[in-house]
Amino acid sequence: MQRSVSFITILFFLLLILSSCKDSGHYDIIIRNGEVLDGNGTAAIKVDVAINGDEIVKLTDLSNATANLEIDAQGKIISPGFVDLHAHLEPIFELNNCESHLRQGITTAIGGPDGRGPLPFGRYVDSLSNKGIGMNAGFLCGHNSIRANVMELENRAPTPEELDQMKSLVRQSMEEGAFGISTGLKYLPGTFSKIDEVITLSKVAADKGGIYTSHLRDEGLKLLDGVNEAIQIGKEANIPIVLTHHKVVGKPMWGSSHKTMALIDSARAVGIDVMADQYPYAASYTGIGILIPSWARAGGNGKFIQRVQDPQLRDSIHKKIVFNIINDRGGDDLDRVQFARVRWDTTLQGKTLKYWCEREGLEVTHENGADLIIRAQVNGGCTCIFHAMDDLDVANIMSHPYTAVATDGRLTKLGENFVHPRNYGTFPRVLGKYVREEGVLTLPEAIRKMTSFPADRMGLANRGRIAAGKKADIVIFDADTISDKGTFIAPHAYPVGIDHVLVNGKMAIHNGEFSDQLNGVVLKGPAYSGELD
Ligand SMILES: [Zn+2]
Repeated sequence: MQRSVSFITILFFLLLILSSCKDSGHYDIIIRNGEVLDGNGTAAIKVDVAINGDEIVKLTDLSNATANLEIDAQGKIISPGFVDLHAHLEPIFELNNCESHLRQGITTAIGGPDGRGPLPFGRYVDSLSNKGIGMNAGFLCGHNSIRANVMELENRAPTPEELDQMKSLVRQSMEEGAFGISTGLKYLPGTFSKIDEVITLSKVAADKGGIYTSHLRDEGLKLLDGVNEAIQIGKEANIPIVLTHHKVVGKPMWGSSHKTMALIDSARAVGIDVMADQYPYAASYTGIGILIPSWARAGGNGKFIQRVQDPQLRDSIHKKIVFNIINDRGGDDLDRVQFARVRWDTTLQGKTLKYWCEREGLEVTHENGADLIIRAQVNGGCTCIFHAMDDLDVANIMSHPYTAVATDGRLTKLGENFVHPRNYGTFPRVLGKYVREEGVLTLPEAIRKMTSFPADRMGLANRGRIAAGKKADIVIFDADTISDKGTFIAPHAYPVGIDHVLVNGKMAIHNGEFSDQLNGVVLKGPAYSGELD
């Protein structure tokens, strides 16, 4: 009798050990047969993934287990969902399914970059939460939004009272869930601020655990000053820094990425927490006003129109635009300035400044180009794609270990407006062109730069990695075929090679089909004092 009991006990434990080797549980979702890149930058491992609710619960051999939904990832990569540190989410109330981001594998994005964060912050994120969104989104508060709210577009330093007002708006935004503060020191009205103002406001964000993302004051001839300024702000405010959409603009500066990345290295060596993000294209996108001196636009477009009517002022504005065509975003060639969104003449969209010159019967000269730029701004401005970077700088910045991938892209409806192709293709382009075709990055390293690295910067402890207990934000793609399809001629095209995207354990894309569901959440930053959803 004694003997048979111990035999049964041994048998019981043997079965227990066996069953723990071969999981036979039942789950909401099982992803089988794929290669998991967990986001840490290490090599892929072949393992099944089990999901319950919105969480990854197991990584093991699940061949004996069952699920409500089974996904066969044979021959595919299973990656954490991509995290976009620089997103223009402004159209999100209309495009709340976030299709153009989800189609490229992005499951979390941070909006409010370049100083243009939402204000009032709390009201914005609350109404977005009520509306519902297709991917996860967090937001930065914006120096430009806050300065414009307090001082409009005035070209001067704030009074002590105005500075206090700005500080309290930063503090309030942080408490309402901002992840930090963004600046756009090239844009109005941030460009009118001195470094001490930015340090003061960044300190408020730092005290609340936030980060600082910087559209530098200059990305052309004074690029190195711009990088140094951002590093100094980070150092003095004691706040983690992101040099956002890092790039080298203008022919005279091409090759300088070696210097900017060295500045990052030397700052890091003395304990300053600085990193960069980048989109993988040699052309930028912004308002045509970037070619116009900022003093000429102070106070808004009405003031600009008055100034260009004064022959002397017009002459000095014109000279500076010619200078910028040669040395900065003009790329020293009117064919490098391509019109994107032009409300007052849609026939220019996709065409270049050279084309416009010729159409007007003008000789193609920098001077005539500058005249047309003034005319464009008088008409109300427009956006342009500036082909003024060098591919070697793009690759050099990308290969640095402290550069994350980010779109700088705007949520876009297929076929609507003329846009930068980064809105659709940023992440697939890195995996296709820069990993598979050119070998600039290894696949595990590229995935790290798209997932754990940006998630860590946002402080998202439960996203950006594939591990038990993490949120089930997942992308399943074919490393042999993933590619961007949008071009500078025909930008509106979804990428290929992404089969499945999961957001919080739900299928956002299933077998290549967009599900059009609102499975995302509005994420709140470190100082959020309200109740979490
Ligand atoms: Zn931007």
